[in-house]
Amino acid sequence: MGAQQTFVIVGAGLAGAKAAEALRSEGFNGRILLFGAEPERPYERPPLSKSFLQGTSERAKIYVHPKQWYADHDIELHTSTKVTAIDRAQREIQLGNGNRLAYDKLLLTTGASPRELPDAGPHSVYYLRRVEDSIQLRFAFTQAKRVVIIGGGWIGLEVAAAARAANVEVVLLERGDVPLMRILGRETAAVFARLHRAHGVDLRTSTHLRRIISNADGRATGVQLNDGTRVDADLVVVGVGALPNTSLAEDAGLHVDNGITVDEHLRTSDPDIFAAGDVANAFHPMLGRHLRMEHWFNAFSQPAVAARSMLGLAASYDEVPYFYSDQYELGMEYSGFVESGGYDQVIVRGNMDTLEFVAFWLKDLQVLAGMNVNVWDVTEVIKDLVRSGLKVDGVKLADASIPLAEVLADAKNAEPKNAGAENTVPTPLGSGQDQPR
Ligand code: NAP
Repeated sequence: MGAQQTFVIVGAGLAGAKAAEALRSEGFNGRILLFGAEPERPYERPPLSKSFLQGTSERAKIYVHPKQWYADHDIELHTSTKVTAIDRAQREIQLGNGNRLAYDKLLLTTGASPRELPDAGPHSVYYLRRVEDSIQLRFAFTQAKRVVIIGGGWIGLEVAAAARAANVEVVLLERGDVPLMRILGRETAAVFARLHRAHGVDLRTSTHLRRIISNADGRATGVQLNDGTRVDADLVVVGVGALPNTSLAEDAGLHVDNGITVDEHLRTSDPDIFAAGDVANAFHPMLGRHLRMEHWFNAFSQPAVAARSMLGLAASYDEVPYFYSDQYELGMEYSGFVESGGYDQVIVRGNMDTLEFVAFWLKDLQVLAGMNVNVWDVTEVIKDLVRSGLKVDGVKLADASIPLAEVLADAKNAEPKNAGAENTVPTPLGSGQDQPR
C-alpha cells in the first residue's frame, strides 16, 4: 500500500464499532474515522427493551467497547457528528459543520429509525430506539399506572414484559388477530399471546386505532379505537416497525430498495462504498434473495465481511439469520428465515404448554427455520439443519428423545446426493460468538 489510506464509517452503532474492530484485526493500519449522530459511543440495543429497561442491567454494560478502546486502536470516533452528504465523484463526505473529508473506502452503518405512527400527529408518544428513549421509558414506568402499547411486534411485546415487571398495567393493541403472526405464523405466535395474557396484559387483537388522545400539553393520555372504545393511560408507547436510514445513500445516487442494496460482499452499487447492519439489504447466497434484517446478530456479524471486502479480501455474508428475545420466563432464539406464509408444516418437539420446546418451520420436509424456547445449546445444530437444505424425518424431528444432530445425520445418510448441496461458505466469525447468552 502506498500513502496511508482513510476508511470512513458512517453510523456509530454496533455495526460501525464492529467494522472498526474488524478492520484493525485484519491488519489495516490506515486511518479509521467513525461518525455517529448520537452523543454516545457505540452501544448495543437489545438490553434497551429488555434488562436495561427493567433496571436489571447497568448502563456500563450496553457499550460495545470501553471508551479507551477507541484511542488504543487508533479509531477516530466522532460522536454528535452528522454526516450530511457523500460526494462520490470526489470521494468525500461532508459533515454538518460544512467540513469535507476524503475517503478511500466508505462504510454505511446508518441503521434504522422507528416508523412513526401515521395518526400520531403532534401528540407526544414514546418510541424506543436509543438509550435515552429507554431511560425515559423506564422512568415513566415508575410514575405510571397504565400504559397503552401500539403494535404487537418485538418492541411491543418486550416493552409489555418490562412494564408488567414494573407493575404497570398494560393494554397492548395489535391490528392482526395474533401478535407476531407475520413472523411466526399462527401456531407459534399463539404462545406469545397466551404468555402475555397470563401475565395480566390486556391484549386486544384485531384492534385498530382511530386516534390518540392527549392533554393540553400534547402528552398522549390514551387512545380511541375504531369501534369508539376509549382507553385511558398515563403513557402511550408506539412500536410499529422501523425504517432504514437511507437518505444519505439515496441522495448520493446509490441503489436503494428497502435499504441500501448490497451484494453478498456487502458492496453497494459504488465499488468504494459498503453497507452493513439494519440499513443493508444484502444479497444472501443461501436464500438466493436480498434480505434486510433489523436484529442484533446481523449488526454484530456482517461487519467482519464488510471490513474484509473494504480491504479487497474475499468474504461473503451467508450466515443463517438469527435473533433472540426474552419476555418474562420465556427466552427464545430463532434461526433461519421464512417468507410470510412460506412454509407448509410446523413441527414441534417438546411442550408448548410448559414453554419448553423447539418449533420448526418446514417446506417439503426441509427445515427453513427453528425457534428454541427455553431449550438451550441447540442453535448451531438448528442452523446446520437449515443450511443443509436436506429433507428430514418429521417423526424424528418431533421426538425430543432423539438428538437433533442425529436427525441431521440421518438426513445426510438418506440423501447423500444432496449432501454436496450443503452450504459450506465459511462463517465470518468463529462458531459460538453469536451466542448472546
Ligand atoms: P416489528 O417487530 O416489525 O413489529 C411492528 C408491529 O407493529 C407489527 O405487529 C405490525 O403489525 C404493527 N404495526 C405496523 N404498523 C401499524 C400501525 N399503523 N398501527 C398499528 N400497528 C401497526 O417492529 P418493532 O416491534 O417496532 O421493532 C422495530 C425493529 O426492531 C424491528 O425490526 C424488530 O425486529 C427490531 N427489534 C428486534 C428485537 C429482537 O430481536 N428481540 C427486539 C426489539 C426490536 P403487522 O405485522 O400487521 O404489520
